[in-house]
Parts: sequence; structure tokens; C-alpha cells
Amino acid sequence: MRKMTEIIQSHINGTNQASDGDYIEKHYPATGEVIAKVEIASDEVLNMAVAAASAAQKQWAQYSGQERGQILIKAALALRQANAELARLEVQDVGKVYSEAESGDVPSGADALEFFGAAIMTYGGIQHQWRDAIGYSRRVPLGVCAGIGAWNYPAQIALWKSAPALAMGNAFILKPSEMTPLVAMRIAAIMEDAGLPKGLLNIIHGDHRIGKAICEHAGIAKISLTGGVETGKKIMAQAASSLKRVTLELGGKAPLIICADADLDKAAEIAMSANFYTAGEVCSNATRVFVHRSIAKDLLELMVARTSSLKVGDPMAEDVDIGALISEAHLGKVMRMIQQGVDEGAHLACGGNRVHPQGFEGGYFIEPTILSACQDAMRVVREEIFGPVMSVLIFDDDHEAITRANATHFGLGAGLITKDLARAHRMSAQLEAGNVWVNSYNIIPPDLPFGGAKSSGFGRESSLYALEAYSDVKATYIALD
Ligand code: NDP
Repeated sequence: MRKMTEIIQSHINGTNQASDGDYIEKHYPATGEVIAKVEIASDEVLNMAVAAASAAQKQWAQYSGQERGQILIKAALALRQANAELARLEVQDVGKVYSEAESGDVPSGADALEFFGAAIMTYGGIQHQWRDAIGYSRRVPLGVCAGIGAWNYPAQIALWKSAPALAMGNAFILKPSEMTPLVAMRIAAIMEDAGLPKGLLNIIHGDHRIGKAICEHAGIAKISLTGGVETGKKIMAQAASSLKRVTLELGGKAPLIICADADLDKAAEIAMSANFYTAGEVCSNATRVFVHRSIAKDLLELMVARTSSLKVGDPMAEDVDIGALISEAHLGKVMRMIQQGVDEGAHLACGGNRVHPQGFEGGYFIEPTILSACQDAMRVVREEIFGPVMSVLIFDDDHEAITRANATHFGLGAGLITKDLARAHRMSAQLEAGNVWVNSYNIIPPDLPFGGAKSSGFGRESSLYALEAYSDVKATYIALD
């Protein structure tokens, strides 16, 4: 783990760019130590990034889809070779356990690059025919696109946004969360070493102020945000003056409906992973677990027994299941939400305490927590907590479960556990969410669209829909007479 306080600068046109602005201190969530100082990019640095991106994009758009695809696939291979190094940086950024970063988050970025590199080789438009004319519509890049990221999946966010944008022939500017500046820097350097022309992937550091400047910059055509609902509203408003396109990947409060016919072992495993993976800091997590009354007691006992045996501590240790939360402030918020749940009448079935593991006493750790006897009106059930806190609710029939599951302004994910195929199709069609998982949870292969409905946002990441989101349609009509 790094001990020196490193200075992190923005990465523009292949080199680090100093800024005369202020610094943000970057803490390692597992110890609370300051491990880096991040230079806040000035408006001048942002202008440099836009100019470099714009120049590089004009060349890049001339490459054929096959040429761009070949470079992106080569870059994906280089990222895979650096997987362990990137996973360590991801741990320093987020405090999540190394095994998750190494097996899930980081490789999912390379998967995206590979998928979009391959997809762009065959991605085309539509032909049209009339008696005296022909026409075609083709997809064209937007120019310079930007991404603004949350702190929970910095490697994945960097690549899920930049890979389709680059494949489509755009240049990209990424602003990671101020709390997770490390891994995206290394990703950009590795991709450039693998042959990505400089200026196509630029990293700008800073907080919401530089985020706002990105939204308002006339040289940027599109913004893709991963963040909270309130931030999404601000970003739409800020992007309006320059008529930018916007994709919003926002928060959630997803339901998981566990039907009476569910296998209990499997249901417990899915519900726990849908709540405690990455210490619960996952937007699509199924934090409202609706359990059929007939199995509720047995399932709760099983989940409490298993959850109580999860080990919290050093994210780099092999036997640890749950790492740190992102910050002291966030930990405080999660603890307050748990207390509020108890005050409102929920039963603390397990967890709920801050943990100070030996050697990591200053870290932001909390026990995985299950609140049972929850009611729909409780704040813990209505609001996103973004920590390892599961709320268990009881239901009696499918119609009731669907009605209560949909009674939220969020609509990102939803889950269903049943052995009944007809019920699975029927209920998944009724769930108001961008993604529904049946007998699984949070699985997102690169060719499956991911994104929200209702207040969880709009636009999709992954899949060919993401290529649409980073392109425009241009129609040509050719008279034949
Ligand atoms: P925030 O909404 O606080 O921040 C997200 C990003 O937006 C950060 O980079 C932040 O900068 C930036 N930002 C904040 N305000 C502005 C502004 N006015 N203009 C431009 N940029 C701005 O989210 P968190 O980082 O706290 O992440 C947690 C949230 O993200 C949760 O709600 C979670 O559900 C959501 N999320 C959604 C996902 C999805 O795919 N749907 C996936 C992961 C998380 P900075 O913080 O550096 O100041």
C-alpha cells in the first residue's frame, strides 16, 4: 500500500498537466490516511483538455471501425495484463475487497472495451430505396464527450463510458469522483501505451465545480453521469445552456422478491450478495428484500447466521469479505440511517456497529446489517443508503409484492427468485425497472443494456444501445434520375 503522498494531476494529451488550483486530499478508506493530493483542474486546464480532445477526435473519426476496434481490443488485452495492478489501485480508491476488484470491477472494464471494439467493426446504418432514389442513414460520432463518475466503481465507470464513446469515433474527457482519482489515471496511460492515440482519453480532476464547468463547456457534445438523483437534475440543468445530450445513471432502491417456491440456500446467497457486495455501495443493489410470509422466518435465520460470519477488515486480506466504506462522512450517514430504522420500529437482526479491525483502526468499516420487521413507509426502506444494510419486508401474494415493489420513484434494478417460469416472466414484465434479474442479481454482461427508469435516470450503458447514445444519425438522399 502506498505510503508517500503522491500528487495527482490531470492527464491531458498523454501527459500530466499541472494546475495552479487547490488540492483535494485523497484518503485510503481502510486506514483513513491521506495517500495522495489531487490537483483541482482549472478552467484553463479544462480548455486544454477540450482542445486536445477535439484535435485528436478529428483524426480518430477518419479511422475505419475495424481500425478503431483493433486498437481498443489491443488496449483491452493490455488492461487484462495489468489487472492485478489496476485492482490494487481500485482498492486504494474505494476500500473494497481486492478479490472483488480483481475478479469483477476491473475486468468488467476490459470486457466493455473488447465488446465495443468488436461491435464497432460491424456497426452500420440503414439503407433506404425508392423508385428514383436511394438513401442511407449512418451513425456519426458526436465529437468530444465527457463522463462524470461516482466513487463506487471507478475502473468500470471509466471504461463503460469511454469504451463506446471511443469505439464510435469520439474523444473522451473523464472526471472521476474526487474521492477515487487513482485507477482511471493508470487506465488512460495503459491504453495509450497500447496504441490509443493521445488526446482521445483525458482525465480531469476536481470536484463538482469542474464538473459544472464540463457540463457548461461549449466544446463538449455529451455528458454521461453516474451519480445521485439530485446531481442528475443539476447536470441536466447545467447542460441545457449548450444543448448537450445527457445520459444519467442514477441511484436506486431496488426490490428483490423472494417467492414461496424459492430455494432457501440460493435465495439467501442472492439476497446477501445483492446487499453486501462492495460493502453495499452499489446503485442497483436490492436493498428492499420482499420475502413471502411462508418462508420468511427460515430465510431470515439463514441470512442472519451467514451474515454474522462475514469478516470485515483489511480489503487486501484474502479471508476478508467486506472492506471499508468510502469515507468517514458516508459511514456516519449509513450509521444514522440504521439508527433511524430502529427508531421507526425495524428490528436489528444483525450488524449495525462500526468496526475497528486491528491495524486498520482509522478505517471506515461497518458490520453488514439486516433490518427485519420493516414497513414500506420507513425511511430506510424508501431512501437509498448505499451501505451494507438490507431491509426485510414480508408479503402474502404476487400482486401485493409487485405493487409494493413499484411504489418508489426509483427504477434501476429489480430481482425475482422463483422456480415458476410463467410467474418469472409475468412478474418481471410488471416490475418498473431498467434491469430485472431472475434467480440471479447484478449480472451485467457487456452486451446487455444497463440503466434506469423513473428517477434512476435514462439512457443505457453496455450493449449496442450505448453506441447509439454516443452517436448521431445522418441521412443522405441520392437522386437517381
Ligand atoms: P454524486 O452524485 O455526489 O457525484 C457523482 C459525480 O458527480 C461526482 O464526480 C461529483 O463530483 C459530480 N458532481 C456533483 N455535483 C455536480 C455538479 N453540480 N455538476 C457536475 N458534476 C457534479 O454521487 P456519489 O459520487 O456520491 O455516488 C453515489 C451515487 O451514485 C449514488 O446515488 C448511486 O446510486 C449513484 N450510482 C449510480 C450508478 C448507476 O449506474 N445508476 C452506479 C453507481 C452509483 P465530486 O463528488 O468529485 O464533487
